[in-house]
Amino acid sequence: MAETLSISENLVAESNLPQVDFNNIPFGRVYTDHMFVADYVDGQWTDLRIEAYGNMSLSPANMALHYGQSIFEGMKAFKDADGNVLMFRPEENAKRLNRSAERMCMPSIPEEIFLSGLKRLLEIDGDWVPNLEGTALYIRPYMFAMDEYVGLKPSLNYRFMIFCCPVGAYYSQPVSVKVEEEYSRAASGGTGEAKAAGNYAGSLYPARLAQQQGYDQLIWTDSIEHKYIEEAGTMNLMFVMDGELYSPALSGTILPGITRASVLQVAEEWGVKVHVGRLAVETVIEAHRAGKLQEVFGVGTAVTVSSICRIGFRGEDFELDMENRELSQKIASYFESIRYGKQEDTHGWIEKV
Ligand SMILES: *Cc1c(COP(=O)(O)O)cnc(C)c1O
Repeated sequence: MAETLSISENLVAESNLPQVDFNNIPFGRVYTDHMFVADYVDGQWTDLRIEAYGNMSLSPANMALHYGQSIFEGMKAFKDADGNVLMFRPEENAKRLNRSAERMCMPSIPEEIFLSGLKRLLEIDGDWVPNLEGTALYIRPYMFAMDEYVGLKPSLNYRFMIFCCPVGAYYSQPVSVKVEEEYSRAASGGTGEAKAAGNYAGSLYPARLAQQQGYDQLIWTDSIEHKYIEEAGTMNLMFVMDGELYSPALSGTILPGITRASVLQVAEEWGVKVHVGRLAVETVIEAHRAGKLQEVFGVGTAVTVSSICRIGFRGEDFELDMENRELSQKIASYFESIRYGKQEDTHGWIEKV
């Protein structure tokens, strides 16, 4: 392994950093100077390198484009008051990428390559991690097929890459969601628990219909009965009913969010009663009618915590009280303070670059 871990570097002569207005960064449209790349050739990860962020050339018959062997991760790095760059549970992303890879018949990437490539990239582009409150460096590791071949079979060659985008202070507005009872994001036995590109393509059309009906996002339900709550677009869901926290169990169709797992663990440590299991839409609606549905929120790396202010279900809208967001706000501020190194990280979740 030691020899494959030598990472070659071909760095830019001049950084693009001076051209970036950190007070006004459009999400996902500004990229740091460099990217990390590794190629899987002849059954081996090879040619580990850091090079200028830029376009690459692909065969028109690239298999990822045609048959969708393409998986990704999403994570964030933060800067503390002393200028250190901090990551949140990066090895969990490496593990999840490899679980996605297995499901999509792609090779696993040694965690060592994922993590040392990431670390080296963050050392080189560390100045790009913004330090204003609420800002972060969004990190996108991903892997895709590289074979030039027409025909359905797993590719033999792959590429793994990491690039980064500084993201501005994100004041998340509460969102409205529609309970989706016709379309499905994921079916039992399908690829819902993999962070696989195709899952997201399939969700766009139902999401557009919901937007035309005045909702920001969807709450997906199980594909068999459309009765049980699964998750939202790129967030796992949490419900506070009668002071207790409920979240759908990972059933194989739900993306196992690292934020979700961390939030559930912390809530339990705080003494909140946590229920992870099947959660029927009807249960939530009945709780709302009985005045017991206190908070609904999504959790994920991109948003951390995103409050839900309105749930649309069968043509009826159920409004949530935005004044009472005690638990979700406590969760949001807890994660914010450990990620920026403002509060001691007692879980060993934060890693310094
Ligand atoms: C990435 C993602 C999440 C959130 O996962 P985190 O690890 O918390 O960022 C939730 N649902 C879907 C569908 C996702 O793609």
